[in-house]
Amino acid sequence: MTSGSTATPGTGRVAVVGAGVAGLAAATALAARGVQVELFESAPAAGGRARSFEYDSMGGAVDNGQHLLMACYRECFEFFARIGVPEEAYLIQDALEATMLERGGKAVRVSSAGRWPASVGLALGLLRMRRVGLPSRLRALGFGAALRAGLGRPHKGERVTPWLERVGQSSRMRQVFWDPLCWATLNEKPEHADAGLLMAVLRRAFLDADADARLVVPRVGLSELYVEPSLRYLRARGATIHLSTPVRHFLHDAGTQRATGLALRDGSEREFDAIIAALPPTRVHALMPEALRTQESTALLEHLGSSPIVNFWARVDRIPFSGDFVGLVDCPVHWIFARERIEGRTPPQRESGQGTGRAHAGELLTATISGAHDLVERDREQLQSVFEAVLREWFVGPPVRVLEFRAIKEKSATIAQTPATQARRLGTRSELRGLFHAGDWVDTGLPATIESAAQAGHAAARAALELPGFE
Ligand SMILES: Cc1cc2nc3c(=O)[nH]c(=O)nc-3n(C[C@H](O)[C@H](O)[C@H](O)COP(=O)(O)OP(=O)(O)OC[C@H]3O[C@@H](n4cnc5c(N)ncnc54)[C@H](O)[C@@H]3O)c2cc1C
Repeated sequence: MTSGSTATPGTGRVAVVGAGVAGLAAATALAARGVQVELFESAPAAGGRARSFEYDSMGGAVDNGQHLLMACYRECFEFFARIGVPEEAYLIQDALEATMLERGGKAVRVSSAGRWPASVGLALGLLRMRRVGLPSRLRALGFGAALRAGLGRPHKGERVTPWLERVGQSSRMRQVFWDPLCWATLNEKPEHADAGLLMAVLRRAFLDADADARLVVPRVGLSELYVEPSLRYLRARGATIHLSTPVRHFLHDAGTQRATGLALRDGSEREFDAIIAALPPTRVHALMPEALRTQESTALLEHLGSSPIVNFWARVDRIPFSGDFVGLVDCPVHWIFARERIEGRTPPQRESGQGTGRAHAGELLTATISGAHDLVERDREQLQSVFEAVLREWFVGPPVRVLEFRAIKEKSATIAQTPATQARRLGTRSELRGLFHAGDWVDTGLPATIESAAQAGHAAARAALELPGFE
């Protein structure tokens, strides 16, 4: 292909840069349509911000962060179905069910009374929520009805806490339901987070069919869940996968303002008919031609901010809760998951150390702290102390002993999901023709999640297919 040309029908070649969820969703969608795809990933392994490491002492795959999905992740499950993820690979609830523990171990149950259309089950679940006063529950019920009638929606630029106060949500209901939902889906403090994005979550998960709000937890490591099946799918369709291959910048034709290919870190250049940039926003900015970096929309890529997530992985002598996971109210740690219960495997054994054979190595917990601005700079010992204090203060029964502990910090886990950032998210099309944005940060109308990444990847693939030569 020469610079500025269009592809000859049937020869369209697409470069997908970045092998996270967005890149893999885009690449597999294109490969499914018979397009020639080349995938470029700077890291030695694919998966980006949703991937597994191996930690021997933890006895299996450890993910960079425990991921919780929802049944309403339509594009994510479309992607999973394409690459053949079996249903046994994740645990999907029959109806929404979450136990929220308060300091001292008292539990509030957030649930849906079975799977009903039009939120009947969720309403019944709300009505029987214990330890929350009836007036708070009735106001939440009324608020749900108002939202379904198109009333009470957030103003543009409004933040979550002022919105919920304005529509009469009690501080108790915010404490046990709204704030945990905000932390989990927007990765940000409710005082700072964009209310419009929480509204998008409500619309998708809570206002239509009750089944949409069900939680989904992977039963295998993230790489086994979707990364390896994606790579197998791509290889089987003749796609080329370049790992450990950083792209240095996008090539373009300055006359036509068209993307023409990629310059790689090793000095080589490759021509393509379309490019999907499935990268974090600051990376897209750095790879753009210098002349474009200061142009209005491209410049915004540098100003989406970021919000951290810290994950703990720990082996403990006993799990202090029943069930697969618990949420924690007003706590530095937001969720704790019993990994081996979820995976359906028995904890490994280890040498007892006294020559008496093999002993129980402890059970594996993983804990998530969203919007972890206050903890992300603390060292491992300090973080272990935080975790031990939470185990002491939020649970009842004999003390829980931590036998092994690791903290994984993702400083830029997501963009900052504040009103200022929300106004700066860009669409699929870039300032270069033939170069498309993908990634969870793209303006999908959703928070930056796996679902947003899959949706953005699919949208970029569709946009590439609309180019001349791809019909
Ligand atoms: C700890 C943690 C917990 C999370 N929990 C949840 C959750 O519970 N539920 C949920 O829905 N979402 C969750 N998320 C968010 C979710 O993981 C992300 O939204 C999603 O993985 C983003 O995918 P992506 O493809 O947009 O970006 P990325 O995964 O960042 O992919 C971009 C890829 O581009 C590569 N790259 C960068 N520069 C170059 C270059 N120059 N050349 C080539 N390749 C390059 C990177 O190595 C990376 O692989 C969590 C995120 C984290 C970090």
